[in-house]
Amino acid sequence: MTARVLVVDDILSNVKLLEAKLSAEYFEVITAYNGLEALAKMDEHEPDIVLLDVMMPGMDGFEVCRRIKKNSKTAHVPVVMVTALDQPSDRVAGLEAGADDFLTKPVDDSALFARVRSLVRLKMMTDELRLREATGQSMGLIDPAETLADAAPTGRILVIEDRPESVAWFASALQPDNDMASVDMFEEALVRVRGGDFDLIVVSLGLRGFDGLRLCSQLRSLPEGRNVPILVVVSEGDRRKLTQALEMGVNDYLTRPVDKNELIARVRTQLRKKRYSDKLRHNMQLSLEMAITDQLTGLHNRRYMSRHLDMLISGAHKSSKPLAFLIMDIDHFKAVNDTYGHDTGDEVLREFAGRISANVRGIDLACRYGGEEFVVVMPDTDPEYAYTVAERLRREVEANPFAISRDPHKLNITISIGIAASDTASDSAEALLHRADQALYRAKREGRNRVIADAA
Ligand code: GH3
Ligand code: MG
Ligand code: MG
Repeated sequence: MTARVLVVDDILSNVKLLEAKLSAEYFEVITAYNGLEALAKMDEHEPDIVLLDVMMPGMDGFEVCRRIKKNSKTAHVPVVMVTALDQPSDRVAGLEAGADDFLTKPVDDSALFARVRSLVRLKMMTDELRLREATGQSMGLIDPAETLADAAPTGRILVIEDRPESVAWFASALQPDNDMASVDMFEEALVRVRGGDFDLIVVSLGLRGFDGLRLCSQLRSLPEGRNVPILVVVSEGDRRKLTQALEMGVNDYLTRPVDKNELIARVRTQLRKKRYSDKLRHNMQLSLEMAITDQLTGLHNRRYMSRHLDMLISGAHKSSKPLAFLIMDIDHFKAVNDTYGHDTGDEVLREFAGRISANVRGIDLACRYGGEEFVVVMPDTDPEYAYTVAERLRREVEANPFAISRDPHKLNITISIGIAASDTASDSAEALLHRADQALYRAKREGRNRVIADAA
């Protein structure tokens, strides 16, 4: 794995040392010697991670970090503070400024590389989600997710720990702000994560009863656990376990003895990131739905119908079941627009879409096919039943005039419907559409407000 690293320090020799170490591991290194230069290089080079000195003349590292995290373009880039400060309160100050981690100088090489690699890997997952969201945005489908805005997020946390005194300590630190549960057995942990809606899992790696690392790897392979951040707690000096945990994809770690404020700060960072990626994922889902939905009526759109119709037809052929196809068109719809305006026309279209949905089954596929044309594809349906449904809908529309908002009186609307049925292996989507269209054309020609079934 390669990545672009921005190294920020006011002392030349510190920069050169880190640059040499990182280059030897095939990282691409960019350097900056003060806060403002660092912010400018963030914009210019879009690094994957920042190694940031704290004590610098002018703008200090805390302030640089705050600015990186406040900018929606850079907030997702991980920041590791690299500093001679080594008190828990310094670490907490860094984490509260938004830093993802805090390494103390002189930096241990293997710890540095393990952490950089793990943070870059985690960022790549967010990048992928951000990219897809950007596509959804550029298609005008969704609004962007805000950045890591939630200042003090709270959530549901599962603590996996088998020492009662440690569990009590976690409870005193995390409650009542968070909703905390704890388990002390391997199988039970898996069951809870499968069933529970957790925002964060804390796993102690010093468990007496079982191997915490093995548990982490199993949690990661559960569909319900894949997107939940994991925070591990390791003993001071247990480097090997920590490196393995980071390689496995755990999100963050704490070293015993754990400082309460540091725990709270790291928990908040993870909860904030989880909220952000949940929002990205939600937006992606939304943009997928919107790409197949007609914005005016909420029915499926033509693009979706065309794709799906092929599958429905081949399914019908395979199972030798009939398939019916209805195409409906509002009669003299142009007159509605001309008399009452386009907005009223839209209201009528929405109301008609609602009536279609109310009159078809869940398995039927209702779509807006074009301007005032709608289609319903009915799987496992013979032509007689399709005719009954079409005729019921036609009568319903005729019998119940449409309410409109600009006028107290209701509009009399009628519709024409063409039906085609597919029960021969040779029918293609195109042929079916064409026959339904022909039937609709006949319904219009013969006076409108009627249902005509294709004779074929
Ligand atoms: P017919 O009985 O033969 O179907 O006559 P018609 O007036 O319904 O048919 P025509 O195809 O001549 O007109 C359809 C009209 O639908 C023309 C177009 O302006 C209008 N239309 C298409 N899409 C929309 C829309 O999204 N909103 C509104 N309000 N009108 C639309
Ligand atoms: Mg300095
Ligand atoms: Mg029409």
